[in-house]
Parts: sequence; structure tokens; C-alpha cells
Amino acid sequence: DAARAAVAAHTRHVAGFPEPGVVFADLTPVFADGAALAAVIDGLAAAGRGPEGAVTVDLVAGLDARGFLLGSGVALRLGVGTLAVRKAGKLPPPVLREDYQLEYGSAALEIPAEGIALEGKRILIVDDVLATGGTVSAAVGLLRRAGAIVERVSVVLELGALGGRARLQELPGGAIAVSA
Ligand code: 5GP
Repeated sequence: DAARAAVAAHTRHVAGFPEPGVVFADLTPVFADGAALAAVIDGLAAAGRGPEGAVTVDLVAGLDARGFLLGSGVALRLGVGTLAVRKAGKLPPPVLREDYQLEYGSAALEIPAEGIALEGKRILIVDDVLATGGTVSAAVGLLRRAGAIVERVSVVLELGALGGRARLQELPGGAIAVSA
């Protein structure tokens, strides 16, 4: 479909980044092309609608940083708001923080603990790439601690060999949507 074609046409595959042995899927040229961006946003937004087309989420959570670019567009398409799930140290206090392990070292994600009512809110998580699943898993944990309900995770690309889906067993089957 349109998102798949756009990603196939515009993605740059960079061997050896960010470290030897990794082939990085760089979606920068996808986002920089108007038609490709629209196709990708539409593909991601479909995960926020039920079979009859009704919107099934209250808020789009975009993951730092490429998820921000996408999440805002998805939220506009669905007619809901967006929340930036940020890397540690960017938000004013108070925050909720979730630490997680990377292949080498660790990282942390944060969301505001005040000023936005997350209790009972149905969330669509948006990011560009699902790799090991560590980032999405941390975001799910964080949003659940805030009382939100993670309905679906919508990504442009899944790097299936890295096993992200297996790591996200806390989500119901069908919760992970891949556009391309
Ligand atoms: P994970 O936590 O699933 O291992 O990694 C996912 C995070 O790292 C996402 O936020 C994603 O943006 C980034 N990431 C990992 N591998 C790639 C890749 O090949 N291409 C891009 N664009 N992002 C990646």
C-alpha cells in the first residue's frame, strides 16, 4: 500500500551505524517528502480507528524523538491531542520516570506527573521503528503507571529479527500495528 511504497522508495539503509554490525534504517528522506510523509501518517493513524472507522483512542503518545514528528500528525488526523514521551532530563518536575536497558548501557523515559490527566485515557503509542522493543516497553510501563490504558502501538517499520514483538507480551495480540 501507500505507506509501504513510500518507505521502500525513500528509506536509506546505513551499514555500521550506530555501531559495527548494525544496519540502520534512516527514515529521514521519508519524512522530508510530502507525499511519503502523508502516506506514513495515514498508515500510523489507521491503528487508532476501529473497524467502522471510529476513533478508539483519546491521546497519541509520541516517543522521543522521531515519534514526535509522527505523533503530532497522527493526532491531527484522529482529532485527539498528543503527548511527548521524553528522554530523561528534558521535562520540568514533577515527572514519572522509567529506566530501561539498552544493548549497551541504559536509558530513561519521562512523562509529566502533573498538568495532564492520564487516568483512564486510551493511548496510541507512535514511533518510527520497533527494534528490540525496549523503548516501547518502557513507554508502556510509564503510561500504565500514570493510569492510562495503552490500546495500540503503531510503528512505521518493525525490525523483526530483533525480537521486539516477543518483548511486548504485556500487550494483547493485535496491539502492534506496522505500516511498512
Ligand atoms: P528499541 O528500543 O526497540 O531497540 O529501539 C527502538 C528505538 O530506537 C526507536 O525509538 C527507534 O527510533 C530507534 N531505532 C533503533 N533502530 C533503528 C533503526 O534502524 N532505524 C531508526 N530510524 N531508528 C531505530
